[in-house]
Amino acid sequence: MLADPFELHEPASIAEAVALAKRYCGDVRFLAGGTDVLPGLFRGLHTVRHLIYLGRIPELHVFDPIRGVFGAQTSMASLERDPVVRQRFVAVSLAAHAAAGPALRTSATLGGNLLVDTRCTFYDQSRFWREANEGCLKADGTECRVVSQGSRCYAVYSGDMAPPLLALGATVDIEGLEGRDSKPLEDLYSPGGDGRLSHALPEGALLVAVRLRDPNLWSSYSKLRARGAPDFPEGSIAIGIHETDGRLDHFRIAVGGIDTRPLVMNEITRPWLGKPMSDEVVEATVESVGRRLHPVANTALLTDYRKHVVTRFLRTDLARYLALRSKELTSSTPAGRVG
Ligand SMILES: Cc1cc2nc3c(=O)[nH]c(=O)nc-3n(C[C@H](O)[C@H](O)[C@H](O)COP(=O)(O)OP(=O)(O)OC[C@H]3O[C@@H](n4cnc5c(N)ncnc54)[C@H](O)[C@@H]3O)c2cc1C
Ligand code: SF4
Repeated sequence: MLADPFELHEPASIAEAVALAKRYCGDVRFLAGGTDVLPGLFRGLHTVRHLIYLGRIPELHVFDPIRGVFGAQTSMASLERDPVVRQRFVAVSLAAHAAAGPALRTSATLGGNLLVDTRCTFYDQSRFWREANEGCLKADGTECRVVSQGSRCYAVYSGDMAPPLLALGATVDIEGLEGRDSKPLEDLYSPGGDGRLSHALPEGALLVAVRLRDPNLWSSYSKLRARGAPDFPEGSIAIGIHETDGRLDHFRIAVGGIDTRPLVMNEITRPWLGKPMSDEVVEATVESVGRRLHPVANTALLTDYRKHVVTRFLRTDLARYLALRSKELTSSTPAGRVG
């Protein structure tokens, strides 16, 4: 497979990168670790003529787990291995460990992971394969091959890092044409569009950093994958919990690998704030989350199975939290796992 020719730009500052993105608008992509964007170029999924490499911009490499600030160019390997991240932001290190394989994680970045392309068995193929099947709405065609007469794309958001960061209430710094802005991470995944994009970042805007303010949350991350090898999530779930004086003051759940964007379950968890975590909360939450999951048949595993396993993960992880709590361990006791 050969990529179409492209020009590589290597800016040394954020201002220069955003100016380049503006100049080549519509024909450009940022290049971070390249582990997603380069295979996409080789498969003809993107046909841009300009790539802006972000690795030479010092500000994007900030790595400060004590203050909870992680530049977009932070490698997945650092998030996986750093002892402070492992202790303070358990779900983040578990998710980084669960993403791709060890070699990829040294190049792959946090920013690239949050903005990774959506996946579908009818899309992540060679140009030859797609042409033989007349393409689809997301690339080279006019119809969705998964949902008949579908006028939108149902490709799956398959990044590992968004669910734990959403569950922990992360914010992001973004540099756009209007200047610097800071917003909740979930705004990056606000619903809308025709499903072809995994995020709502305006074209040409640069993700600068991710901020996590509270290191005292209990968190977990569980991931279903087809093989115990480098594999994208077929469904994943992250939980962030904190109680003060036995009452929930932080309870967030985020699901990946099921919809076109990660799902944040605030409308299900918010009513429980101010109440103690209990068996009743667990049962009601598992049932409500299960009702919100509607996977479509465009990944390796069966849709019912993906839904069943994700809700099972949720029940097990919440039960684990309850067990820790009843043993009167502090709510900051780190716990979590990769399923
Ligand atoms: C074999 C294989 C297995 C994989 N398995 C997994 C997996 O299990 N889980 C998983 O989550 N991913 C997986 N991936 C995908 C990928 O490796 C990761 O998501 C990785 O973290 C992407 O980061 P990157 O730096 O390489 O992104 P890139 O490929 O450089 O960029 C990805 C996208 O983000 C944009 N971008 C990057 N940085 C910025 C920024 N700062 N501001 C604005 N836009 C930006 C790029 O323009 C591009 O559109 C796998 C990839 C391969 C090849
Ligand atoms: S969900 Fe439909 S439109 Fe989207 S990539 Fe798959 S086949 Fe194409």
